[in-house]
Amino acid sequence: MAEHLNTLLLGDPPVKVSGYSVAGEETVVGLPEMDVMFDVGKAPRALLNLNHVCLTHGHMDHAAGVTYYFWQRDFQGNPGGNLLLPAVLADPMERMLRDWAPIEGHQAPFNIIPMRVGDQHELRRDLIVEAFDVAHGRNVPALGYVVFERRRKLRPELAGLTGPEIVALKNKGEEVGVVSEVPLVAYLGDTEVFDLSRHRLLPTARVLVAECTFFDADHRSRAKAGFHTHMDDVPRLLAMTRAEAVVLTHVTRRTGLRSARAALSRLLPAEQAARVHFLMDRPSRHREEPAEEQ
Ligand SMILES: [Zn+2]
Ligand SMILES: [Zn+2]
Repeated sequence: MAEHLNTLLLGDPPVKVSGYSVAGEETVVGLPEMDVMFDVGKAPRALLNLNHVCLTHGHMDHAAGVTYYFWQRDFQGNPGGNLLLPAVLADPMERMLRDWAPIEGHQAPFNIIPMRVGDQHELRRDLIVEAFDVAHGRNVPALGYVVFERRRKLRPELAGLTGPEIVALKNKGEEVGVVSEVPLVAYLGDTEVFDLSRHRLLPTARVLVAECTFFDADHRSRAKAGFHTHMDDVPRLLAMTRAEAVVLTHVTRRTGLRSARAALSRLLPAEQAARVHFLMDRPSRHREEPAEEQ
């Protein structure tokens, strides 16, 4: 993919995840096949065509690109996108987008969708995103998001019936279908590790995108102070999810990606480590290039 984005294909059938994430700098995680990005980072051009942004919280490394997203889409002739965000941020966000109009010279269209815990929004027919509670500190309103498919199936006990028999039942007013929810991708945003079983869809999402900011032993207090995840919490996280792939984001530049990966593989048994991916990992690169220390 263009620019600085990294693209991973995860699980079988593969789910495409394309994004960029470095703590304090920029975080954006796009699902091109599902027409949604989680957080907007600095609004990378390759993701501007996605019609939904699910913003987890207002920190600048996650939210900076909101204005650019709407004005660039307008400039390119795309319809105004949809910004889902914690409900308490809706008013200040709307004020900012209106205040930008005299700066730019015109108003770009935008659609703000305030979200609360448990709220759902349709990305397209039968593909739904739902908001859940995360733990990024009491002073930071924050939500996570899970995308799931809503499938309508015939009730299993009717499986032997013919088409006309099913139609006859329907005509009698009987419910012949059941609806099931298939969780595809869960995105936690910035958060401490919390009990995933608090939400019905989190433990079984096929792909879990979680932050892991800190890896060094002497960064534990930083993790605690900023309500971030430390590597020491990853085994607990993995024990709570049946995801085919767990994608770690938001790694600090204080720890290079290469040393983060090495530390994690020392910590985890091989079969657990095999499930874990770094969003920023470029397999051909991290072997050849020095770690990104700063
Ligand atoms: Zn952040
Ligand atoms: Zn944050």
